[in-house]
Amino acid sequence: MHMIAIASSKGGVGKTTLTANLGGFLALAGYRVLMVDADIQPTLSSYYPFDYHAASGLYDVVTAGTIETAISRTSLPNLDIVISDDPEGRLENWILHTPDGRIRLRRALANVDYDFVLIDTQGAIGPLQDIGVLAGDLLLSPIPPEILSAREFARGTLSMLERLRPMHMLGAPVGPLYGLCYRMDRTVDARLVADTLRQSTFAESRGDISILDTVVPATVAYREAASAQVPVHVWEPHRRAGTAPAGLETMTALVRELLPRVGTASAGG
Ligand code: ADP
Ligand code: MG
Repeated sequence: MHMIAIASSKGGVGKTTLTANLGGFLALAGYRVLMVDADIQPTLSSYYPFDYHAASGLYDVVTAGTIETAISRTSLPNLDIVISDDPEGRLENWILHTPDGRIRLRRALANVDYDFVLIDTQGAIGPLQDIGVLAGDLLLSPIPPEILSAREFARGTLSMLERLRPMHMLGAPVGPLYGLCYRMDRTVDARLVADTLRQSTFAESRGDISILDTVVPATVAYREAASAQVPVHVWEPHRRAGTAPAGLETMTALVRELLPRVGTASAGG
């Protein structure tokens, strides 16, 4: 079972879109996938239609460790979800006041049986971001394509990892982290941003941070697919003729690059 947390130190960078599309792509490829919405704003929860009859969601998983009753089926075969169900924000308080609260999600997820567990995390510092990041054996981080945002990404990511590293003692090692150049448009030199990050002290100083070769282009197809509540690679064939199927290409390349890495990042098979 491979545990991947989609994490970044800021919001609006594409974490939820990436989680939903990677999850949908893997599920339709035949893998059994569980997505976990660990963001207080439940955007991932409503990406795909899901079975509303499930008893609970993230709150019970973290506070009571009851995972089986918190899993909902989505409209896609092989794709399940733990929805975010804490509109009042009680969970953050609970985590703060529970000694090992930050590793409760990781612990609860050890009891499920899937090929992949994808955790969509909160893009702001806080206990909720911590439980999501700590639940992953591997971290996948979308990087905004502008050079200033990329530097900010490097700085924010380092401090996030530093903050969580002491959790190692509770059995929650942090990382490795893979940066993914995300939402690149034609006016931006993707290579420049990626190379700058690769050559910076950021990546050099730590073997556990690297930048993937795959680049996710900016395309309105992701928004259209979200409206249609399907993965982008399913949506694209419905689009006007003449537009390139960027989503299928991107997800194929991403999974091809991730597979050998998850193999070494997780303990179990
Ligand atoms: P986060 O979860 O990090 O806050 P989201 O996944 O919600 O970010 O994405 C933020 C916005 O960017 C959304 O409106 C989404 O539709 C849009 N978006 C995501 N991926 C792409 C992409 N590859 N190209 C263009 N727009 C995108
Ligand atoms: Mg989000």
